[in-house]
Amino acid sequence: AKDAGRGTWRLFDREMDRHLQERRSLQRDIKRALLSEQLFVEYQPFVALDTHKITGLESLVRWHHPERGIIAPDEFIEIAEQSGHIGTITAFVLAESLAVAAQLPANVSIAVNLSPLHLREAWLFDQLSGIIERSKIDPGRIEFEVTESAVLETEGRTLENLHRLRELGCRIAIDDFGTGYSSLATLRGFPFDRLKIDRSFIVDLERRENDAPIVKAIIELSRTLGLRVTAEGVETARHADILRAYQCHDGQGFLFSPPLPKRDVLEWFECDNT
Ligand code: C2E
Ligand code: CA
Ligand code: CA
Ligand code: CA
Repeated sequence: AKDAGRGTWRLFDREMDRHLQERRSLQRDIKRALLSEQLFVEYQPFVALDTHKITGLESLVRWHHPERGIIAPDEFIEIAEQSGHIGTITAFVLAESLAVAAQLPANVSIAVNLSPLHLREAWLFDQLSGIIERSKIDPGRIEFEVTESAVLETEGRTLENLHRLRELGCRIAIDDFGTGYSSLATLRGFPFDRLKIDRSFIVDLERRENDAPIVKAIIELSRTLGLRVTAEGVETARHADILRAYQCHDGQGFLFSPPLPKRDVLEWFECDNT
Protein backbone atom coordinates (compact mmCIF):
# COMPACT_ATOMS: atom_id res chain seq x y z
CA ALA A 1 0.00 0.00 0.00
CA LYS A 2 2.91 2.23 0.86
CA ASP A 3 4.47 1.64 -2.53
CA ALA A 4 1.22 2.27 -4.29
CA GLY A 5 0.91 5.49 -2.36
CA ARG A 6 4.36 6.59 -3.39
CA GLY A 7 3.68 5.58 -6.95
CA THR A 8 0.57 7.68 -6.96
CA TRP A 9 2.45 10.58 -5.51
CA ARG A 10 5.12 10.30 -8.18
CA LEU A 11 2.46 10.22 -10.86
CA PHE A 12 0.87 13.28 -9.35
CA ASP A 13 4.29 14.91 -9.25
CA ARG A 14 4.87 14.23 -12.89
CA GLU A 15 1.41 15.56 -13.69
CA MET A 16 2.22 18.76 -11.79
CA ASP A 17 5.48 19.01 -13.65
CA ARG A 18 3.81 18.69 -17.00
CA HIS A 19 1.27 21.29 -15.96
CA LEU A 20 3.99 23.72 -14.90
CA GLN A 21 5.92 23.20 -18.08
CA GLU A 22 2.84 23.82 -20.15
CA ARG A 23 2.20 27.05 -18.30
CA ARG A 24 5.77 28.15 -18.79
CA SER A 25 5.62 27.48 -22.49
CA LEU A 26 2.32 29.35 -22.84
CA GLN A 27 3.85 32.21 -20.91
CA ARG A 28 6.69 32.31 -23.39
CA ASP A 29 4.33 32.05 -26.36
CA ILE A 30 1.95 34.77 -25.28
CA LYS A 31 4.42 37.54 -26.02
CA ARG A 32 4.86 36.17 -29.50
CA ALA A 33 1.06 35.89 -29.82
CA LEU A 34 0.70 39.59 -29.13
CA LEU A 35 3.40 40.49 -31.61
CA SER A 36 2.28 38.23 -34.41
CA GLU A 37 -1.47 38.79 -34.23
CA GLN A 38 -2.54 35.37 -33.01
CA LEU A 39 -5.21 36.80 -30.75
CA PHE A 40 -8.68 37.50 -32.11
CA VAL A 41 -12.06 38.49 -30.77
CA GLU A 42 -15.46 36.84 -31.08
CA TYR A 43 -18.74 38.56 -30.29
CA GLN A 44 -21.82 37.16 -28.58
CA PRO A 45 -25.12 39.09 -28.59
CA PHE A 46 -27.34 40.13 -25.67
CA VAL A 47 -30.93 39.85 -26.80
CA ALA A 48 -33.87 41.77 -25.29
CA LEU A 49 -36.17 39.01 -24.04
CA ASP A 50 -39.38 40.88 -24.92
CA THR A 51 -38.53 42.10 -28.46
CA HIS A 52 -35.79 39.60 -29.42
CA LYS A 53 -33.70 42.51 -30.68
CA ILE A 54 -29.93 42.57 -30.16
CA THR A 55 -29.12 45.26 -27.60
CA GLY A 56 -25.41 44.60 -27.23
CA LEU A 57 -22.44 42.36 -27.92
CA GLU A 58 -19.89 40.90 -25.52
CA SER A 59 -16.32 40.68 -26.81
CA LEU A 60 -14.55 37.41 -25.97
CA VAL A 61 -10.87 36.92 -26.75
CA ARG A 62 -9.36 33.76 -28.29
CA TRP A 63 -5.84 32.71 -29.10
CA HIS A 64 -5.03 30.99 -32.35
CA HIS A 65 -1.88 29.17 -31.28
CA PRO A 66 0.27 27.96 -34.20
CA GLU A 67 0.75 24.47 -32.69
CA ARG A 68 -2.10 24.04 -30.23
CA GLY A 69 -4.96 25.46 -32.25
CA ILE A 70 -7.61 27.68 -30.67
CA ILE A 71 -7.06 28.26 -26.95
CA ALA A 72 -9.96 29.47 -24.77
CA PRO A 73 -9.52 32.55 -22.55
CA ASP A 74 -9.94 30.52 -19.36
CA GLU A 75 -6.66 28.84 -20.29
CA PHE A 76 -4.55 31.92 -20.91
CA ILE A 77 -6.00 35.01 -19.20
CA GLU A 78 -4.52 34.02 -15.86
CA ILE A 79 -1.15 33.35 -17.46
CA ALA A 80 -1.32 36.73 -19.18
CA GLU A 81 -2.12 38.38 -15.85
CA GLN A 82 0.84 36.77 -14.15
CA SER A 83 3.28 37.65 -16.90
CA GLY A 84 2.15 41.26 -17.09
CA HIS A 85 0.50 41.09 -20.52
CA ILE A 86 -3.13 41.49 -19.53
CA GLY A 87 -3.18 45.25 -20.13
CA THR A 88 -1.95 44.76 -23.68
CA ILE A 89 -4.60 42.11 -24.30
CA THR A 90 -7.40 44.31 -22.97
CA ALA A 91 -6.18 47.22 -25.09
CA PHE A 92 -6.23 44.96 -28.15
CA VAL A 93 -9.74 43.63 -27.39
CA LEU A 94 -11.09 47.14 -26.77
CA ALA A 95 -9.60 48.59 -29.97
CA GLU A 96 -10.96 45.67 -32.04
CA SER A 97 -14.36 45.96 -30.39
CA LEU A 98 -14.64 49.68 -31.01
CA ALA A 99 -13.76 49.20 -34.68
CA VAL A 100 -16.68 46.75 -34.89
CA ALA A 101 -18.97 49.09 -32.93
CA ALA A 102 -18.23 51.82 -35.47
CA GLN A 103 -19.88 49.64 -38.13
CA LEU A 104 -22.99 48.83 -36.08
CA PRO A 105 -26.18 50.78 -35.33
CA ALA A 106 -25.64 53.29 -32.51
CA ASN A 107 -28.15 51.54 -30.24
CA VAL A 108 -25.97 48.42 -30.04
CA SER A 109 -23.55 48.51 -27.10
CA ILE A 110 -20.28 46.64 -26.77
CA ALA A 111 -19.08 44.92 -23.60
CA VAL A 112 -15.43 44.26 -22.76
CA ASN A 113 -14.20 42.18 -19.81
CA LEU A 114 -11.70 43.75 -17.40
CA SER A 115 -9.30 41.71 -15.33
CA PRO A 116 -9.19 42.44 -11.57
CA LEU A 117 -5.40 42.59 -11.73
CA HIS A 118 -5.39 45.15 -14.51
CA LEU A 119 -8.06 47.20 -12.70
CA ARG A 120 -5.66 47.82 -9.81
CA GLU A 121 -3.17 49.61 -12.02
CA ALA A 122 -3.04 53.41 -11.92
CA TRP A 123 -2.40 53.61 -15.68
CA LEU A 124 -5.50 51.66 -16.71
CA PHE A 125 -7.71 54.71 -17.10
CA ASP A 126 -5.32 56.67 -19.31
CA GLN A 127 -4.69 53.60 -21.44
CA LEU A 128 -8.36 52.78 -22.02
CA SER A 129 -9.65 56.35 -22.30
CA GLY A 130 -6.98 57.05 -24.94
CA ILE A 131 -8.27 54.17 -27.06
CA ILE A 132 -11.88 55.30 -26.57
CA GLU A 133 -11.11 58.89 -27.57
CA ARG A 134 -9.25 57.84 -30.70
CA SER A 135 -12.13 55.60 -31.75
CA LYS A 136 -14.68 58.45 -31.69
CA ILE A 137 -17.25 55.97 -30.34
CA ASP A 138 -19.76 57.39 -27.88
CA PRO A 139 -18.53 56.15 -24.47
CA GLY A 140 -22.19 55.51 -23.58
CA ARG A 141 -22.10 52.51 -25.93
CA ILE A 142 -19.16 50.94 -24.11
CA GLU A 143 -19.67 48.67 -21.16
CA PHE A 144 -16.95 47.16 -18.96
CA GLU A 145 -17.68 43.87 -17.23
CA VAL A 146 -16.08 43.26 -13.86
CA THR A 147 -16.50 40.42 -11.40
CA GLU A 148 -17.53 40.78 -7.79
CA SER A 149 -14.06 39.84 -6.60
CA ALA A 150 -12.65 42.78 -8.56
CA VAL A 151 -14.96 45.26 -6.90
CA LEU A 152 -14.33 43.91 -3.42
CA GLU A 153 -10.67 44.59 -4.10
CA THR A 154 -9.38 47.28 -1.78
CA GLU A 155 -5.83 47.29 -3.10
CA GLY A 156 -4.68 49.76 -5.71
CA ARG A 157 -6.82 51.99 -7.85
CA THR A 158 -9.70 49.64 -8.66
CA LEU A 159 -12.58 51.81 -7.48
CA GLU A 160 -10.99 55.00 -8.73
CA ASN A 161 -10.56 53.45 -12.19
CA LEU A 162 -14.17 52.30 -12.28
CA HIS A 163 -15.46 55.71 -11.19
CA ARG A 164 -13.35 57.49 -13.80
CA LEU A 165 -14.53 55.18 -16.58
CA ARG A 166 -18.08 55.88 -15.49
CA GLU A 167 -17.47 59.65 -15.41
CA LEU A 168 -16.25 59.36 -18.99
CA GLY A 169 -19.71 57.97 -19.80
CA CYS A 170 -18.94 54.25 -20.00
CA ARG A 171 -21.20 51.76 -18.27
CA ILE A 172 -20.10 49.18 -15.74
CA ALA A 173 -21.62 45.71 -15.44
CA ILE A 174 -21.16 43.28 -12.61
CA ASP A 175 -20.32 39.93 -14.18
CA ASP A 176 -20.93 36.36 -12.93
CA PHE A 177 -23.23 37.68 -10.22
CA GLY A 178 -24.03 35.20 -7.48
CA THR A 179 -20.74 33.32 -7.55
CA GLY A 180 -18.91 35.67 -5.18
CA TYR A 181 -19.13 35.96 -1.43
CA SER A 182 -20.82 39.20 -0.51
CA SER A 183 -23.19 40.05 -3.31
CA LEU A 184 -25.28 42.60 -1.47
CA ALA A 185 -22.30 44.47 -0.08
CA THR A 186 -20.87 44.65 -3.60
CA LEU A 187 -24.04 46.19 -4.97
CA ARG A 188 -24.12 48.78 -2.23
CA GLY A 189 -20.51 49.77 -2.79
CA PHE A 190 -20.65 50.77 -6.46
CA PRO A 191 -23.23 52.28 -8.85
CA PHE A 192 -23.42 49.58 -11.51
CA ASP A 193 -25.47 49.90 -14.67
CA ARG A 194 -26.03 46.22 -15.37
CA LEU A 195 -26.02 42.96 -13.48
CA LYS A 196 -25.24 39.67 -15.22
CA ILE A 197 -26.59 36.57 -13.51
CA ASP A 198 -24.02 33.79 -13.63
CA ARG A 199 -24.66 30.90 -15.98
CA SER A 200 -24.62 28.38 -13.12
CA PHE A 201 -28.02 29.68 -11.94
CA ILE A 202 -29.59 29.44 -15.39
CA VAL A 203 -28.35 25.98 -16.40
CA ASP A 204 -30.68 24.20 -13.99
CA LEU A 205 -33.58 26.62 -14.10
CA GLU A 206 -35.87 23.93 -15.51
CA ARG A 207 -34.79 21.05 -13.31
CA ARG A 208 -33.66 22.40 -9.96
CA GLU A 209 -36.69 23.88 -8.30
CA ASN A 210 -34.51 25.83 -5.89
CA ASP A 211 -32.78 28.00 -8.45
CA ALA A 212 -36.00 29.54 -9.71
CA PRO A 213 -36.73 31.61 -6.58
CA ILE A 214 -33.10 32.71 -6.36
CA VAL A 215 -33.04 33.88 -9.95
CA LYS A 216 -36.39 35.59 -9.45
CA ALA A 217 -35.09 37.38 -6.35
CA ILE A 218 -31.88 38.53 -8.10
CA ILE A 219 -33.95 39.97 -10.96
CA GLU A 220 -36.31 41.77 -8.59
CA LEU A 221 -33.40 43.14 -6.57
CA SER A 222 -31.66 44.39 -9.73
CA ARG A 223 -34.79 46.09 -10.98
CA THR A 224 -35.36 47.73 -7.60
CA LEU A 225 -31.82 49.11 -7.76
CA GLY A 226 -32.46 50.40 -11.29
CA LEU A 227 -30.04 48.00 -12.96
CA ARG A 228 -30.49 46.38 -16.31
CA VAL A 229 -30.37 42.64 -15.75
CA THR A 230 -28.96 40.07 -18.14
CA ALA A 231 -28.98 36.29 -17.78
CA GLU A 232 -25.96 34.39 -19.09
CA GLY A 233 -26.08 30.83 -20.41
CA VAL A 234 -29.61 30.96 -21.85
CA GLU A 235 -29.63 27.68 -23.75
CA THR A 236 -33.31 26.75 -24.20
CA ALA A 237 -36.56 28.45 -25.13
CA ARG A 238 -37.85 27.39 -21.71
CA HIS A 239 -35.04 29.32 -19.99
CA ALA A 240 -35.96 32.39 -22.01
CA ASP A 241 -39.69 31.97 -21.16
CA ILE A 242 -39.03 31.68 -17.43
CA LEU A 243 -36.66 34.66 -17.46
CA ARG A 244 -39.11 36.76 -19.47
CA ALA A 245 -41.87 35.95 -16.97
CA TYR A 246 -39.54 37.16 -14.20
CA GLN A 247 -38.98 40.38 -16.18
CA CYS A 248 -35.30 39.85 -16.84
CA HIS A 249 -34.30 42.41 -19.51
CA ASP A 250 -31.80 40.51 -21.66
CA GLY A 251 -30.55 37.01 -22.33
CA GLN A 252 -27.20 35.83 -23.63
CA GLY A 253 -26.46 32.24 -24.59
CA PHE A 254 -26.41 29.48 -27.15
CA LEU A 255 -30.19 29.74 -27.69
CA PHE A 256 -29.58 33.05 -29.44
CA SER A 257 -26.04 32.59 -30.69
CA PRO A 258 -22.59 31.34 -29.67
CA PRO A 259 -19.74 33.86 -29.85
CA LEU A 260 -19.00 34.47 -33.54
CA PRO A 261 -16.34 36.21 -35.64
CA LYS A 262 -16.82 39.84 -36.65
CA ARG A 263 -17.75 38.93 -40.22
CA ASP A 264 -20.84 36.97 -39.07
CA VAL A 265 -21.88 39.67 -36.61
CA LEU A 266 -21.72 42.39 -39.24
CA GLU A 267 -23.93 40.24 -41.46
CA TRP A 268 -26.72 40.24 -38.86
CA PHE A 269 -26.89 43.96 -39.22
CA GLU A 270 -26.35 43.77 -42.99
CA CYS A 271 -23.39 46.05 -42.71
CA ASP A 272 -20.73 46.60 -45.28
CA ASN A 273 -18.07 44.16 -44.07
CA THR A 274 -15.34 44.76 -46.57
P1 C2E B 1 -17.61 35.28 -19.11
O1 C2E B 1 -17.28 36.74 -19.10
O2 C2E B 1 -18.57 34.80 -18.10
O3 C2E B 1 -18.10 34.96 -20.59
C1 C2E B 1 -19.13 34.06 -20.91
C2 C2E B 1 -18.59 32.70 -21.28
O4 C2E B 1 -19.68 31.78 -21.37
C3 C2E B 1 -17.91 32.68 -22.63
O5 C2E B 1 -16.86 31.71 -22.56
C4 C2E B 1 -19.02 32.18 -23.56
O6 C2E B 1 -18.56 31.58 -24.73
C5 C2E B 1 -19.71 31.18 -22.67
N1 C2E B 1 -21.13 31.01 -23.02
C6 C2E B 1 -21.95 31.90 -23.60
N2 C2E B 1 -23.21 31.42 -23.74
C7 C2E B 1 -23.19 30.17 -23.24
C8 C2E B 1 -24.20 29.15 -23.09
O7 C2E B 1 -25.37 29.29 -23.46
N3 C2E B 1 -23.81 27.99 -22.50
C9 C2E B 1 -22.53 27.76 -22.09
N4 C2E B 1 -22.24 26.59 -21.56
N5 C2E B 1 -21.55 28.72 -22.20
C10 C2E B 1 -21.87 29.91 -22.77
P2 C2E B 1 -15.39 32.03 -23.08
O8 C2E B 1 -15.43 32.83 -24.34
O9 C2E B 1 -14.65 30.75 -23.10
O10 C2E B 1 -14.82 32.97 -21.96
C11 C2E B 1 -14.56 32.49 -20.67
C12 C2E B 1 -14.16 33.61 -19.73
O11 C2E B 1 -12.90 34.18 -20.09
C13 C2E B 1 -15.15 34.77 -19.74
O12 C2E B 1 -16.26 34.44 -18.94
C14 C2E B 1 -14.29 35.87 -19.18
O13 C2E B 1 -14.26 35.82 -17.77
C15 C2E B 1 -12.91 35.53 -19.71
N6 C2E B 1 -12.61 36.39 -20.86
C16 C2E B 1 -12.99 36.27 -22.15
N7 C2E B 1 -12.50 37.28 -22.90
C17 C2E B 1 -11.81 38.08 -22.06
C18 C2E B 1 -11.09 39.32 -22.22
O14 C2E B 1 -10.98 39.90 -23.32
N8 C2E B 1 -10.50 39.83 -21.10
C19 C2E B 1 -10.62 39.24 -19.87
N9 C2E B 1 -10.02 39.83 -18.83
N10 C2E B 1 -11.29 38.10 -19.69
C20 C2E B 1 -11.89 37.52 -20.77
CA1 CA C 1 -18.20 38.67 -19.13
CA1 CA D 1 -20.05 36.16 -17.07
CA1 CA E 1 -18.20 33.19 -16.30
